[in-house]
Amino acid sequence: ARAWHLERRPDGMPTADDFALRDIPATALADGQVRVRNLWLSVDPYMRGRMNDAKSYAAPFALGEPMGGGAVGEVIESRSDMLAVGDRVLHMGGWRDEAVLPAREAQKLPAIDAPAQAFLGQLGMPGMTAYFGLLHVAEAKPGETVFVSAAAGAVGSTVVQIAKAKGMTVIGSAGGAAKCDWVRSLGADQVIDYKGEGSVARQLSAAAPEGIDVYFDNVGGDHLDAAFATARQGARFAICGMIDIYNSGAPTQLRYIARTIAARIRMQGFLVSDWMGQAPAFYADMATWMAEGKLQRQETVVEGLEHMPEAFLGLFSGRNTGKMLVKL
Ligand code: NDP
Repeated sequence: ARAWHLERRPDGMPTADDFALRDIPATALADGQVRVRNLWLSVDPYMRGRMNDAKSYAAPFALGEPMGGGAVGEVIESRSDMLAVGDRVLHMGGWRDEAVLPAREAQKLPAIDAPAQAFLGQLGMPGMTAYFGLLHVAEAKPGETVFVSAAAGAVGSTVVQIAKAKGMTVIGSAGGAAKCDWVRSLGADQVIDYKGEGSVARQLSAAAPEGIDVYFDNVGGDHLDAAFATARQGARFAICGMIDIYNSGAPTQLRYIARTIAARIRMQGFLVSDWMGQAPAFYADMATWMAEGKLQRQETVVEGLEHMPEAFLGLFSGRNTGKMLVKL
């Protein structure tokens, strides 16, 4: 079996030399363990933070050690009563083709009729982030106007569709005409191409002349500033991610942040891991919306373990529409 190892800690944008694909020693299973042949591997923006040697919500990857992350695979050997050969499972032993782990750390795929890889995207961690962030953290209500950045990504495209299913007005932002067309096809009322003409602030105020009630932040930077400039009284900001600074760490100039005071804006950062206990509500609502034809899904698939770092780095240049995945 082979796994990607963290070779050195990047300074700024990672490069191919920061990763090394190496053989991992074959191990016999201990009691309670399973061997999983991975079929799909997830790359996610939060993994960039784990490449730094800094204390954060997810422990840093150790130098010279295999990396990990979300994966879906098939049990090929089992020394546990909990899982049998042939079971399809979701687990955190990614960045490799084969994983050995305790059966209790692998979850059978939920009983929703969807392709296995959907449980790494819209029906998995990114989908839950969209659902709990929008409905519980931002407390977005029917009739309100929601602005979401990185709207053509895994989390953002799901925010757009949940907001529409709930009767909200949605403004999405994405980079480039093709992505903007896709976000519009998901039901967004207005779409901003942040790589196109005019500042985000100017484009947002044109798209939302009455202002926004909710901002779902995936980007930070000028998108966050535009949301401050446009926020209505009592607006709520769910701070989900700030991909604009993951590779720079440079402070962003926020010209309009003082509007937090007069507009009584409530900003709340959140981690999806705090909401896992409420996963059944998420699965139930998503299954209903799927059955009603209200959820579409797109994936950008990179084939082959050897191309995984490219897939990961592609997140920071917008190579993906919908969820970025590696297929083995
Ligand atoms: P995406 O599928 O959205 O992929 C990242 C996208 O971000 C790219 O496709 C690109 O789209 C956009 N992007 C990259 N760099 C920039 C930039 N400098 N400015 C503007 N847009 C940029 O990833 P996810 O859906 O997995 O994650 C989205 C966000 O949610 C991230 O910030 C992530 O860290 C966060 N997150 C937070 C969680 C939590 O618990 N708080 C859990 C999961 C995710 P484009 O071409 O449009 O630029």
